[in-house]
Amino acid sequence: MPENPITRRDLITTTARAAAVAAAVGPALAHAAPPPLVRPVAVSSMNGLGAVKVAVERMVAGAPPVDAAVAGVALPEADPDDVTVGYGGLPNEEGVVQLDAAVMDGVTMRAGAVAALERIKHPAQVALEVMRGTDRILLVGDGALRFARAHGFPEENLLTERARKIWLFWKENASQNDDWLPEPKEIDDPDIQWFIKKYGDVYFRPTGTIHLSACGEGGQLGCCTTTSGLFFKLPGRVGDSPLVGAGLYCDGDVGSAGGTGHGESNIIVAGAHTVVEFMRHGSSPEAACVATLERVVRNTKLDYLRDAKGRPKNNLLLYAVNRAGEVGGAAIWAGERCKYAVCRAGSEPRLFDCAYLFKKT
Ligand code: ASP
Repeated sequence: MPENPITRRDLITTTARAAAVAAAVGPALAHAAPPPLVRPVAVSSMNGLGAVKVAVERMVAGAPPVDAAVAGVALPEADPDDVTVGYGGLPNEEGVVQLDAAVMDGVTMRAGAVAALERIKHPAQVALEVMRGTDRILLVGDGALRFARAHGFPEENLLTERARKIWLFWKENASQNDDWLPEPKEIDDPDIQWFIKKYGDVYFRPTGTIHLSACGEGGQLGCCTTTSGLFFKLPGRVGDSPLVGAGLYCDGDVGSAGGTGHGESNIIVAGAHTVVEFMRHGSSPEAACVATLERVVRNTKLDYLRDAKGRPKNNLLLYAVNRAGEVGGAAIWAGERCKYAVCRAGSEPRLFDCAYLFKKT
């Protein structure tokens, strides 16, 4: 018997006292309560309907949430029709596909990330290796590629014919003051038509990316964000996606969050971390996303980033889950693409509308 055995009566008194303290101090300390039992749940950006399903299946089969998240995002990473992630992702300004990804595990509070990684289809899996196989967090460029090679990841050309044509079309139409001339016939090309149908032709640099946050049965949390980054970005540019605290963050005591959209806006408010902090202080996942986006609006001070009414021109979307399995999503701008995907164990994945701050009239 231990020196100070805890009796059943002590336990009941202690638990009742803890509950009374939690009630008195409010939700900010609610994370001190024992973990709830939740149906495993995954939330992601709207391109993750298949990914959230896979993530939940993996959790039900016993995988930790961070591994489940990486398994889920492998779908869009391998899908040439998702031009915002992995294989088939749109390249940088020079026509080179450079991928960014990160993972975070709320159980161990460890993270791993890669940025500007070329020729590897599944950067999220490399990020997981960085987390588990090193005591570092972020590897970039050639170092990240060498690390991936050392771990046996196959190298391949990630630039699909469709992505190359879309890039060339952008390049030839980007300016009238360079040496590139638009090729009128290109607009009829089925691949260019496909792109315009999906993303419109007003602004040729829409965003995508997948973030996925996963919550297991005992409230364990893990997340992952993976992307080919801003379309036609400057070579070497790294966005929010692989930055812990911006593109993703989770805290095992609180919740998990991540973002897609204009990366620089997200980095400047440490978006995912801020969402988690709002949840720590009692906000629901949706309210936490909204409050963080309001901060983005306040921090968008440069004229060229704002419209005539002073609102950010760029969109940013945030997604979150807390350790009770509640989910939410929000965007700066309403629109067709302002949705998030959710899957709970035992149910089919579904898209939900994000809360939003502004709507274009
Ligand atoms: N957030 C990504 C980045 O800035 C882009 C995206 O979400 O599509 O690289």
